[in-house]
Amino acid sequence: MKLVLATGNKGKVREITKMYKSFEVIPYTDLIEAFDIIEDEPDFKGNALIKARAVYKALGDEDAIVFADDSGISVDVLDSEPGVLSARYAGENVSDIDNLNKLMKAVKEKGFDSSAAFYTAAIAIVCKEGEYTSHGWMYGNVIVQAKGEGGFGYDPCFIPLGYDKTLGELDDDTKSKLSHRSQALANARPVLDVIKQMRKF
Ligand code: IMP
Repeated sequence: MKLVLATGNKGKVREITKMYKSFEVIPYTDLIEAFDIIEDEPDFKGNALIKARAVYKALGDEDAIVFADDSGISVDVLDSEPGVLSARYAGENVSDIDNLNKLMKAVKEKGFDSSAAFYTAAIAIVCKEGEYTSHGWMYGNVIVQAKGEGGFGYDPCFIPLGYDKTLGELDDDTKSKLSHRSQALANARPVLDVIKQMRKF
């Protein structure tokens, strides 16, 4: 079964493709030209639905199954920021490195060298059978020094609970076992299995 991902984020595409090996996962940018989607909901679920609905409509293919992930990091000493603004914490059209540096600087400016933090992922599925959402979370600490080259986004400053290395230092398989995204994907899996069954008839 083919799943169209409502993202061009290479880190997300890589992780989702790896976790959903039994599906054909295609970024929507392989099918139509990338377009801007305004994510103005106050929560991850709302923004995931906005992305999945926008891509479903733009594809114009009734049978498409569109899949969106909205995710981000919430840091305790920053009053849960950047949260839904994680992708544009340092401004519009900035790089992952700009966001990472701003977050570590903000924690330092509060007088801390680490803080409890968690990632949230919301998954939205939009298809002719309906709209579905699921969530996953990963808890840990952020530190004010980037370590490692793995993962993407804020991973070089995030140490998952029970570990002493950042997600930038841990390998992809370890991240897949722990991550907010893998939990949200696991929770969405039964919905995809039901859709697969329904489409056989
Ligand atoms: P979105 O594309 O609007 O969902 O933005 C998500 C942003 O949150 C990304 O740009 C990353 O900066 C951050 N983010 C989400 N998930 C992860 C992750 O697994 N690792 C590191 N950063 C992440």
